[in-house]
Amino acid sequence: MLPRLTESIGFMMTGENYRTAVRITPGVPATDGAGVRMTRLIGTANLDNVNPFLLLDSFRTENPDDYIAGFPSHPHRGFETVTYMFAGLLRHKDSVGNEGIIETGGVQWMTAGRGIVHSEMPEQKEGLMWGTQLWVNLPASEKMTDPAYQEFDADQLPKEVRDNGVEIVAIAGTTSQGTVGAVKGRPTDPTYFDVHIPQDESFTEAVPGTHSGFVYVVQGSVAISSGVGDDSCVVQTGNLAILGDGDAIRLTGRDAANRVLLIAGRAINEPIARGGPFVMNTEDEIRQAFTDYRSGNFLS
Ligand code: FE
Repeated sequence: MLPRLTESIGFMMTGENYRTAVRITPGVPATDGAGVRMTRLIGTANLDNVNPFLLLDSFRTENPDDYIAGFPSHPHRGFETVTYMFAGLLRHKDSVGNEGIIETGGVQWMTAGRGIVHSEMPEQKEGLMWGTQLWVNLPASEKMTDPAYQEFDADQLPKEVRDNGVEIVAIAGTTSQGTVGAVKGRPTDPTYFDVHIPQDESFTEAVPGTHSGFVYVVQGSVAISSGVGDDSCVVQTGNLAILGDGDAIRLTGRDAANRVLLIAGRAINEPIARGGPFVMNTEDEIRQAFTDYRSGNFLS
């Protein structure tokens, strides 16, 4: 029993129980808005949600026909949308006068709350349009909160550079080295890190055991390792890996350049009722959302 005890003490001292990938998916092709072509990774028939994350879309194209129609005026209620642009320009405009452009490297964390009607339109007519949108659920107590925005340009997002060359852009959450993400005060206590990992180098980070999490590979490929034995699995560009239980993660870069989004949040243990652009707790609340939208009730 002694070796086991020693092992156990060593384990507790590091406090690291590395998460492994319990599922890997490339997502499915999707078209949304007025005909924007994208890949849907979360919010599909096979992967309804990674609680509290309701949807993850990724778009990357140099063909304006794939994106130029954009997302004309549409509503949201009951959750948050997080738009992060890797390349290109997206103009956001809502029906109560808020307007701005999310530029390359910029992020918009929008709390729709009780209701926002907005458009999201490409500001460019050519060139690469590359980005992602995540939907984060709100607990019942905050679904009807006032709409709010947290928006940051690339140069406003905190960055951390580690000794081994790993670079982290901290959008939300705090790294183990103390870099605090730009987005604050969200009920799911989210982590949203954009991580650049050089070849053969590792990124090790705490991920709270209370949180659901996933890794989305933006560029290159990474190995997700449990830290025990040779049991890592490799996740390729464009794939999403859902993480199992644990309180840390170790990712190793496999290509010349590797970039991943590490996203985690506290699950909301409440019923989920979806109705297009509305996500509430009950079907009655979805019907009410449609009624309020049609009567212009969520704009005050
Ligand atoms: Fe929208």
